[in-house]
Amino acid sequence: MPFDLSARLAERRSAQLFRQRPLLESPQGPEVVVDGQPLLAFCSNDYLGLANHPDVIRALRDGAEKWGVGGGASHLVIGHSTPHHELEEALAEFTGRPRALLFSTGYMANLAAVTALVGQGDTVLEDRLNHASLLDAGLLSGARFSRYLHNDADSLAKRLEKAEGNTLVVTDGVFSMDGDLADLPALCAAARRKQAWVMVDDAHGFGPLGAHGGGIVEHFGLGLDDVPVLVGTLGKAFGTAGAFVAGSEELIETLIQFARPYIYTTSQPPAVACATLKSLELLRSEGWRREHLDKLIARFRQGAEEIGLELMDSPTPIQPILIGDSGRALRLSAMLRERGLLVGAIRPPTVPAGTARLRVTLSAAHSEKQLESLLGALAESWALLIKEEAADV
Ligand code: PMP
Repeated sequence: MPFDLSARLAERRSAQLFRQRPLLESPQGPEVVVDGQPLLAFCSNDYLGLANHPDVIRALRDGAEKWGVGGGASHLVIGHSTPHHELEEALAEFTGRPRALLFSTGYMANLAAVTALVGQGDTVLEDRLNHASLLDAGLLSGARFSRYLHNDADSLAKRLEKAEGNTLVVTDGVFSMDGDLADLPALCAAARRKQAWVMVDDAHGFGPLGAHGGGIVEHFGLGLDDVPVLVGTLGKAFGTAGAFVAGSEELIETLIQFARPYIYTTSQPPAVACATLKSLELLRSEGWRREHLDKLIARFRQGAEEIGLELMDSPTPIQPILIGDSGRALRLSAMLRERGLLVGAIRPPTVPAGTARLRVTLSAAHSEKQLESLLGALAESWALLIKEEAADV
C-alpha cells in the first residue's frame, strides 16, 4: 500500500524517536508556561535574553506602526524597505565586511549561499556534524558533496586533494548540538592551500562569542580572506528572526542575482528589521550580558562535573549532557520536568545514533539562583535514574 503513514509513525514511536512540540503559553524567558505548567526553561537559543526585551518589543511595535506588518513582496520587487536596508548596513558595519544581505530565516540563507556559489562540476565539503540546512544546501547545489570528519582539518585536506571546480568548505561556527567551536584556523589554512573558499554558519556564535559579540571570526581574529562567506542568524542571540550573509560586494551582488531562496520569497516584515536594529545595539553595548553568561557557563560545567554528568567540549551556552540511549535521555528529561525544569532530549536523527543527549542552553537572562535550581534538580534526577536502572537489572 502506498503512503502507509501510520506504519511510519508507529515505527518512529516504537524507536523512542517520536517528536512532540511543547506548547509555549507565555513569552520566551527563563520562566515559561508550557502545556499549562509553569517551568524554568533551559532550552531556548535566546542566549543574551533579548527576545523579550522591552526596548526590542517597543522597536517592533513602533516599526509596525510606521511600516505596516507584511513585507508585501520579494526584495527584488517592492519588498526591500528602508528598515531592511538600514539593518543590512548595520550588520555589515558590525561584522566589518563591505556588505550584508538579509534573509527571512537561517535555513534559507544557507540554502541561498551554497546553491548560488557552487553547482555541477564544483565541490562542496562539509563537516559531518553541520546543521541540517547546510547539509541540505550541499545536496541541493548539485555540486560533488562530501562530508569530512568532525572538525578534522586532515580529513578535510584529504578531500580537498580530490576536489574539482570551485570548492566550498562549509562549517558551523559553533556546532548546534555539541556546543564546540569549529577549529577555524586549521580549517581555513587547509582551504587556503587549495584555493577553496570557507563558509561559516555562525548561528550560535554571534552574541555569545568574541569580545564584542562578533562571533567565532572575532574570537579567532579571522578576516574576509579567511572566511569569505559568513552567515549569522537573528532568531538566537539577537532575539528576533531572520538571518544574514556578510561578505564582499561581489559576493552579496552574486546572491542577489543568482540565489533562488533569496529571489523567490517575501521579505521579512520590516518591523522585525526595526526590532533587530535595536537588539544589535543592545548586543554591542551591553557587554555585561556576555560576562554574566560566561559565569553561568563556568558554574554549570563545574556543578555538572561534580554530579558526574558527561559534558562535551563546549565553551559556549550550548551545554549538552551526553546520555547515549534515547529512552534514557527522555526519562531524564521527564524527571527534570516533574521537578519544574524544561530541558529537551535530543535524539537521532538530529544527532548520531547512540549519542542522545539533554541539550542544556544557558542565557544571560538566567539568574545564578535559577542555575542552582537546575543543578539541584539534575543531581536528584541523575541519582534517581541510576537507582531505577540498578533496580531493573
Ligand atoms: N544554522 C544553524 C547552525 C542552526 O542551529 C539553525 C537553527 N537551529 C539554523 C542555521 C537555521 O536558522 P533559522 O532558525 O533562522 O532558520
